[in-house]
Amino acid sequence: MVDTLFLDDWDALTRERDTRFATTLDRIFAYHPFYKDLLTRAKLRRRDIKGVADLARLPVTTRQDYLANPHAFILTWPDAALSDESSVWDVMYTSGPDGVTAPFASTSYDFMNILALNRNMLRLRGAREDDRILNLFPLTRHPHGAFARTMNAAAAFNLPVTAAMPGTPNARQPDIGNGLDTVLDIVQRSRPTILWGVPSYIRELVARADEKSIKLPWVRLVFASLDGFSEGMRADLIAGLRRLGAEDPQVSVSYGATEMQGSMVECVKGAGFHNPAPDQFCFEVVDPDTHKPLEDGEEGLLLLTHLDRRGTVMLRYASGDVGKLVRERCPHCGALTERIIGAPRHHDGVLKVDGRLIDPQALSDLLLGRDEVADFQAIVEYEERPGGVGIGKGRGKLPARDRLRIRVAPSGAVLTGLSQMLAERVEAVFKVKPVIEITSAQDPMLAGRGWRVSPLMDLRRHKRR
Ligand SMILES: [Zn+2]
Repeated sequence: MVDTLFLDDWDALTRERDTRFATTLDRIFAYHPFYKDLLTRAKLRRRDIKGVADLARLPVTTRQDYLANPHAFILTWPDAALSDESSVWDVMYTSGPDGVTAPFASTSYDFMNILALNRNMLRLRGAREDDRILNLFPLTRHPHGAFARTMNAAAAFNLPVTAAMPGTPNARQPDIGNGLDTVLDIVQRSRPTILWGVPSYIRELVARADEKSIKLPWVRLVFASLDGFSEGMRADLIAGLRRLGAEDPQVSVSYGATEMQGSMVECVKGAGFHNPAPDQFCFEVVDPDTHKPLEDGEEGLLLLTHLDRRGTVMLRYASGDVGKLVRERCPHCGALTERIIGAPRHHDGVLKVDGRLIDPQALSDLLLGRDEVADFQAIVEYEERPGGVGIGKGRGKLPARDRLRIRVAPSGAVLTGLSQMLAERVEAVFKVKPVIEITSAQDPMLAGRGWRVSPLMDLRRHKRR
């Protein structure tokens, strides 16, 4: 079995990729509802796509295409006998910017690949045989990969893992789920060497341990997701863990997605986000407007192609983020795979709120650029008004008015006037007066994300149904 993460040269990788991709393409041309239709309209036949070199002939698929009809992205098999390629192992969900969730199906065949890619993520991040993982992602209402794949990654690397289950996932079973102090008890009991979760929540946990004079000397790695992450956060976490007795703690950041069921990861700080399974995923960068391929190192729309999937399958899929890609061997770990250099930015998802445009990346830069803010989630919704809002045909209803609500987890003690100060800053830049709600990193809306979501969610369409 070849180790496709460390091949000799790019040609060897292309050969490996094309072998896997050929079978995937056979299935797509025969059984993929969305692409069968798209490829027919584009007048492309199976023989026109010989391998990854021909990808540029295919049109770009957008996240909106997927969210509009996610079931059309699942291969439909005619075989009645369940093979590993057709039996559904699990279904995870991703939330769109309007809060609607879309299913992402994995077959048994895919699950084996998921184990392999999660194992590679751990290898790249420097996991060792004697590590112990603490999973700090909470259970979410809909099955989500951040919690589940952390458990699976440990299995693929044969490491012990403890799920701390923060928060209260379900009022029906209040005993399932734990507050911060109970999670801290679990930390002491399980003595993890790796803390894996959302950065603002891990920071809150570290701060609480410090308050209670609890030492965590075994911790050597923090696996943090990119959402809500800043370099200041990295420095903070390292300083905090040092105070708790950790010798040389490192923070490894990841860029994850439901569409990967895993994450692109750093091997060392600043080495870029590595594609952990170049035999499963192919990345490209194109001009956001013309979709023309760009050179390595140029910033553009990131595209993901599944080379070896059987459940939900996507070709040239744009999540809406822009970033810079390089394809040279990593000078730090020696992996030969795509790496995203710098932090990808949200490109899509600009929303009109009360007639003003709000760019989620600009909002994120503004809020996370402040020391007082650890994390946030903004929501656009209809304002509650007496008599109801003007949706539907009821008489006497007032016209609907938009409201921008921002849930903010502060990075330390809540300062007097923080809400007002943040509201004024947002209003000065975007000309929309927001409602600021101070919460904590334990807020399920923040702690449950794990993988990339838009910092600006639109719940208006949702309500209209
Ligand atoms: Zn590397």
